[in-house]
Amino acid sequence: MCSSTTDGMVGSKEDGMSLCLSCGICCDGALFGCVPIGNADSLAAMEAAAIEVLVLDGQSQFKQPCPAYSCKGCRIYADRPASCREFCCKLLAEYEGGKISMLVAREKIKQAGSLRDSLLETLRRIDPALSGRSLAELWKQWDSAAKGAEGLVFRQKFGYVLMQMAALRRFFDRHFIAQAFPRGDDSEGTRN
Ligand code: SF4
Ligand code: SF4
Repeated sequence: MCSSTTDGMVGSKEDGMSLCLSCGICCDGALFGCVPIGNADSLAAMEAAAIEVLVLDGQSQFKQPCPAYSCKGCRIYADRPASCREFCCKLLAEYEGGKISMLVAREKIKQAGSLRDSLLETLRRIDPALSGRSLAELWKQWDSAAKGAEGLVFRQKFGYVLMQMAALRRFFDRHFIAQAFPRGDDSEGTRN
């Protein structure tokens, strides 16, 4: 395990937790569309947090934004599913591995939050119901709707939103997902 140093360049697990508390991007639907559930995960804890478990494509999972997430963190932290427990984004891995400082990590989280909030505001203006959905799921749907000749009208109408979505995805790919990713892969918008 890494340990803190006075230069702040090597992050402790405790500081990593405080980083996550200021972020929440892997729980609020911005980064992922859903979370897979395993046999050993506590269904009682999820039920208590009003998490609805679905079986999609033969995989038990729940949709994000996660009902257990609040600005104070995960309400079922001690009993969170294994995929949540095991997940570590690139930013957190780089911080805990001493590759980036707390200051840099916090700045990236701030930038990601700003891109996310700006996109949510755009979506809210189009339809208030859209802003309550997972941005990761919306990205997949809108990207698909905008493809090819059939997507021309959609692109003309919502090109400015697609550009905002693409900017957010690029930022996530670069700072939260890209390169060697030790415990997951979001290529399908899930934690599988
Ligand atoms: S995206 Fe990374 S830094 Fe943010 S809460 Fe998840 S693991 Fe923590
Ligand atoms: S269960 Fe907890 S850690 Fe998992 S997605 Fe929900 S809020 Fe995040």
